[in-house]
Amino acid sequence: METGPESIEPDNPRKQLFDAFIEHFCSVNSHEGVFPKKCRTCGKEYESLHHYICDTEAKAQTMEDVGEIMGKSFTMVYRNCSCGNTLVVTITEEIMPQITEFWDSLKLEAEISGHSLKHIVTSFVEEWENDIHSQFSCIKKNRRF
Ligand SMILES: [Zn+2]
Repeated sequence: METGPESIEPDNPRKQLFDAFIEHFCSVNSHEGVFPKKCRTCGKEYESLHHYICDTEAKAQTMEDVGEIMGKSFTMVYRNCSCGNTLVVTITEEIMPQITEFWDSLKLEAEISGHSLKHIVTSFVEEWENDIHSQFSCIKKNRRF
């Protein structure tokens, strides 16, 4: 029985794009001065970017490029600690050299697909979370006080 062409995988350039940047974001894990990060409200410590992504909840506006205000590449990631406090992680070019390229690519993807940049960012973060969750077995503690 014929099984058709060998490459039955759908061509998904967006996933490839996301995967490439997910890889780049790994470099933030080992960057001194970013992690460990401690929640000032409950004292919980996040050892790495992966731990942070894994163990916090994304906010509606989860990632933002505030470079224009700062005059240099400056990305803010907002997520909620299990205590409800918002923990902000900032990523600059010194921390992740590909951060400007990341935003350019996402803006382009938004333009091509006709979606808002926010939609593309949300999709990226979802993909990133899935990737981290599949690599690390994290126990989510959603207890609120
Ligand atoms: Zn906390």
